Amino acid sequence: MKLTWSRLPLKLKHRFATSQGGVSEKETIVVRIEHDGACGEGEITPSRLYGQTLESSEAALGEIRGWIDRFHPARIHSVVTELIRRHDPQRAVIAAIDSALHDWMGRRVNRPTWELLGLDPPACRTTFTIGIADADTTHRKVVEALQAGATALKAKIGVEGDTAALDIIRNAFDGPLLLDANEAWTPEQAIQRVRDLSRYRPAMIEQPMKREFDAHLPKLRELGVAPIFVDESCERPADVVRLRGLADGVNIKFNKCGGIREALRMIALARGLGMGVMLGCFVCSSLAIAPALAIASLCDYSDLDGALLLAEDPYEGIRFEGGVLSFGDLPGVGVRRR
Ligand SMILES: [Mg+2]
Repeated sequence: MKLTWSRLPLKLKHRFATSQGGVSEKETIVVRIEHDGACGEGEITPSRLYGQTLESSEAALGEIRGWIDRFHPARIHSVVTELIRRHDPQRAVIAAIDSALHDWMGRRVNRPTWELLGLDPPACRTTFTIGIADADTTHRKVVEALQAGATALKAKIGVEGDTAALDIIRNAFDGPLLLDANEAWTPEQAIQRVRDLSRYRPAMIEQPMKREFDAHLPKLRELGVAPIFVDESCERPADVVRLRGLADGVNIKFNKCGGIREALRMIALARGLGMGVMLGCFVCSSLAIAPALAIASLCDYSDLDGALLLAEDPYEGIRFEGGVLSFGDLPGVGVRRR
């Protein structure tokens, strides 16, 4: 098989900020696998939080190109196992190749990936994320999200004055509201803040503290305000096992774990341990949303709005109607370049 790649510039509708910083433009990398007249694509969305950059991704691709043609693209398990053995820290790259291989296979037999995985057709309600912004922008974002059909919102919190934004959101929206603090608090602050947040009736609270404070998570769960999920604390399958009894659920993202195959292992572990599962994403095009949406029927919450935050999505094939993401009738992961 032949592996090629190119950068993909993306522009956001609004500057998007969390308690860890913000962006108004972003660049990702499109990966292509070609073999036997069929092509599959995947998108690398590197995150510095996990030691991934565009440069580290391209360096890994340069090495992978040297050996990957030894494998047939239908041998997804073997390829992903070898990718993890050689390039474990570059899981965003592994996720994109895993996605491109599933896409190749689906296009080859003209069936969608979710069907080849034996799953139900995805029709998944996604939360729409309201990043940290001033009052006017927050209000505009909420109105836009509701006009676009969002029926569940996720708000980024964990900065000074975040309750003002929550007041604005709750004045306009009574439905499910998820709150993500992105590691903002110390254990002492977290107890106070989670108690205070009860008046906003959160459906769940995500990553209140840094990973080093995971042992304090049960105290937040005992407050009974909302289920406590973790995101930054949970990258890979082994983390799910470590978090047993500490968190109510985990937020699985493909660029943390390495794609469909690793995500399925995490979901199986989480379910076996009685934990909730959420699927998340970073800002990206629909090409990176598609493989996650393909398995979204297995999860409790989906936060797959990464492409909805773009001014223009270079990929088409995913519909967003009434707050629900679903596929059209394209084979493979279900999107194609506009
Ligand atoms: Mg998060």
